[in-house]
Amino acid sequence: MIASTSQQSQTPASATPTITKTLHHQIVFIGGGSAGLTTASMLLKKNKSLDIAIIEPSHKQYYQPGWTMTGGGVFQIEDTVRDKKDFIPRQATWIADRVVKLDPDRNAVATKEGILVEYDYLIVCPGIQLDWHLIKGLKDAIGKNGVTSNYAPNYAPYTWELIKNFPGGNALFTFPNTPVKCGGAPQKVMYMADDTFRKLGVRDRTNVMFLTPATKMFAVPEYSAILDKVVAERGIDVKFRHNLKEIKGETKEAVFDVFDDSGAVVDEFTHKYDMIHVAPPQSAPDFIKQSPLAVSGSAYGWVDVDKYTLQHNRYPNIFSLGDASSLPTSKTAAAARKQAAIVAENLLAFIASQPLLHKYDGYTCCPLITGYGKTIMAEFDGYNGTVVSSFPLNPVKERWIMWMMKTTGLPWIYWNRMLKGEQFEGDYIKFMQWRQ
Ligand SMILES: Cc1cc2nc3c(=O)[nH]c(=O)nc-3n(C[C@H](O)[C@H](O)[C@H](O)COP(=O)(O)OP(=O)(O)OC[C@H]3O[C@@H](n4cnc5c(N)ncnc54)[C@H](O)[C@@H]3O)c2cc1C
Repeated sequence: MIASTSQQSQTPASATPTITKTLHHQIVFIGGGSAGLTTASMLLKKNKSLDIAIIEPSHKQYYQPGWTMTGGGVFQIEDTVRDKKDFIPRQATWIADRVVKLDPDRNAVATKEGILVEYDYLIVCPGIQLDWHLIKGLKDAIGKNGVTSNYAPNYAPYTWELIKNFPGGNALFTFPNTPVKCGGAPQKVMYMADDTFRKLGVRDRTNVMFLTPATKMFAVPEYSAILDKVVAERGIDVKFRHNLKEIKGETKEAVFDVFDDSGAVVDEFTHKYDMIHVAPPQSAPDFIKQSPLAVSGSAYGWVDVDKYTLQHNRYPNIFSLGDASSLPTSKTAAAARKQAAIVAENLLAFIASQPLLHKYDGYTCCPLITGYGKTIMAEFDGYNGTVVSSFPLNPVKERWIMWMMKTTGLPWIYWNRMLKGEQFEGDYIKFMQWRQ
């Protein structure tokens, strides 16, 4: 492993840096996060002689699902982070820098520090961008005076501070008007908060509200129905068709657009908060949006790939997976793991001039914590919205064993198996998996 250095200069994503060095690698990854590390490890398990470079600026690797547990007081934030160097495969070259420009017509990318990296094949997985700026007042308000979010490691511990010291009042939880990573995360924290408020004895003087632009609790009808029961039993006030557009930090007010069934804004709703957990709007990173790789005409700017083969729709030597890709399924690490296996197989086939026979089926999983000791292991096929399970148990049920899986099993699997490119555990027990 060769690591080049990364410095913190302020080259904007759209500026073309002055090139001071040119490198060439057979396979180049943009992003060595959940998707990138898993795919690179899988490729090298299949063929150790591949020449792989991973362009990745961060020296930390986060287990992001753990931020929900941090916000709920189950994990410390330190439990969710490890050194990146320990997860970059030994045979790969790590370029510790940030891609700022893509030039797919010349098979090259440019980094912030002025390195031009040429490739034969490119795998694009730089994750998702958190667009805090799209909610007026949020950037100034967040991290203090009751405004928080589990979507960033610097705020997740503050979520728990707010919950465990809550004296009663209005506790608001919001969902944005864009696709997000882990669609369940904005409500998981709410159920843990609700449990804690009961334990503290403040729930009877607390108004717990979930405000979302959606018209149901979850995309898959079976999981949505069970969540309807959960919110009803807990006395949570759910407001559909409500999109957070402004935080007024000084008066502690949240302002929402209210939609009708056609999606037109018909009203404005302002509510006081004593604490508010915000899931920010999200999109592809700007350098992807501004590149020829993005889906044309889409404001989100996802990398435009075939939903089955994960190959780019216009540049056949480019593949994409994970949160930055256009794959029309729920964006999760669980989905990225299944996608990684498809990219590894199809890229090797493409290199060998063989047809791309491996197809991604839209699998994803969002373990829905519905309280301490309770989780619905919401696995589903995101392309058809149907319930699936990797376990011999009906997943449409709150279970203690799935809480144990969520808090103990899955983090272990992530660090010790997924990022190392090991096979999906469910494959070993296919014969006994629950079927609808
Ligand atoms: C609060 C929360 C809860 C979640 N809960 C779950 C859950 O329960 N289950 C689940 O499966 N998933 C969950 N997720 C989602 C999961 O973490 C992501 O879907 C997953 O990490 C996506 O992998 P990725 O590789 O696409 O992106 P990431 O893992 O975010 O990795 C992207 C990498 O690209 C790098 N990068 C960014 N820009 C550049 C650039 N310009 N050049 C080079 N590299 C770049 C970044 O540094 C990063 O390392 C949760 C996420 C959050 C925030």
